[in-house]
Amino acid sequence: MENWLKTASEAAPEKTAVKFNSETITYSELYREARTLAGKIKSLGVDRIGVFIYNSSESLKLIHAMMQARIEMVLINTRLTPHEIEQQLNDVGVTMIITTKPLEMDGFEVVRFKALYDLKPVPLEERPINGDDILSIMFTSGTTGRAKAVKQTYANHYASAEGCEKRFGYGTDSVWLQVNPIFHISGLSIVLRCVIAQCTNILVDKFDEEKIFGLMKEEKVTHTSLVPIMLQRLLKVGSDFGTHLEGILLGGAGVTKKVLKEALDNGLPVYNSFGMTETCSQIVSIPYTDGKILDGTVGKALHNVELKVDAGGELLVRAENVTPGYLNAEMEIIDGYFRTGDLARLDEEGYLYILDRRRDLIISGGENIYPKEIEDRVHEVDGVENCVVIKASDAQWGETPVLLVQGDAGIREDILKHLTETLARYKMPREIHFVDEVIMTSTGKVSRQKNYKKYIKNHQSGIPDQ
Ligand code: ATP
Ligand code: MG
Repeated sequence: MENWLKTASEAAPEKTAVKFNSETITYSELYREARTLAGKIKSLGVDRIGVFIYNSSESLKLIHAMMQARIEMVLINTRLTPHEIEQQLNDVGVTMIITTKPLEMDGFEVVRFKALYDLKPVPLEERPINGDDILSIMFTSGTTGRAKAVKQTYANHYASAEGCEKRFGYGTDSVWLQVNPIFHISGLSIVLRCVIAQCTNILVDKFDEEKIFGLMKEEKVTHTSLVPIMLQRLLKVGSDFGTHLEGILLGGAGVTKKVLKEALDNGLPVYNSFGMTETCSQIVSIPYTDGKILDGTVGKALHNVELKVDAGGELLVRAENVTPGYLNAEMEIIDGYFRTGDLARLDEEGYLYILDRRRDLIISGGENIYPKEIEDRVHEVDGVENCVVIKASDAQWGETPVLLVQGDAGIREDILKHLTETLARYKMPREIHFVDEVIMTSTGKVSRQKNYKKYIKNHQSGIPDQ
């Protein structure tokens, strides 16, 4: 496998690799810097290191340096507590952390990025990159339980970038705007797509609507990736993303039809997509030009991805970008296909519909109820800020849905009316509660587990939500 940064520095030495605030770094500068740092990091004598980084030019240099040094990087979610970080690093046998910001972690050797420059470099190994080498280790979001440590190889990331490039249509002249955090696959995949395609990455460290609108125009941004909640926030402020924008990739969590429609009505080139940490980003997507985009589908498999839905309704995937496995859990493989844990439907034309997570399926009196279907209907009601459907046990039906809504309690009747009109009776939530806030995961997804725990806690202690 090629050394992507070396190739880019030879093919496009003067091209801007990354722009962060007022700093601009070309591909030749980035390569030089990454090589210098790589020798220094290598001198630490460790072959797997945790990286605690926020989006910044230093972080980008560090990632490239780790790749040049062929050291496996364990990406740490900066929003976790020290206790959670400790647990994750213990899971993957890491004792050293490199950080671009101050970090107190007892029991770990914490090295500041700036201090790397003081180290005496050792020579770098010049063997070619093996596709099976681990580039990164990344934890799943932990939406369904303990986060799993996913091995992501060079070949996985390359296949992922190839699949995305073909469908999403970016190339050497493209300018990506990256607001997604580097520690998450939606962010790291942009860093890698850019170096592989030799295009420019405009890196943003914090989500600020005005700044993003400004950069879109100033930097003539052509491509970006947003989690649905970011798009929602941007649309509240405006929809003028400049004249160069060719694609907004949505992913990470389901997007509501309301938000998608608003984006389309504003002429935005949105692509919906579906992917997992285990697949190194998206495996399925659908462009705004496809008439089915508002039908609830996440699109068709990328050209290098094979999908199947098994008899139990679970989505199975086989592709070069599927991880070889976890470090702290068993991976479920069946006939060479990875079991995603998501229930889905594939239509005759190959469009994929995500129904829900296997473990969230509610079986009520023998009937299957997908919480997501109820949530989708609830989102159609004006005034609903957010909602989640959780699974409660029920003496009569076994399991039954309970709906938690974030919004003004005055819309209860509107919700009931809309659900009665649009859902079969057996799918009707047994109870509706209004809550101050629907709890989200650090990657912007509704956490059914955390909301369930809070619901149970409040109801056992007799504290009603509202
Ligand atoms: P964990 O595996 O630890 O429970 P997680 O599955 O949320 O966490 P990620 O790898 O970040 O961790 O997320 C992948 C999951 O996100 C998918 O399996 C799917 O359930 C959900 N997802 C991603 N994109 C979409 C989408 N477009 N629509 C619906 N769900 C999506
Ligand atoms: Mg998962």
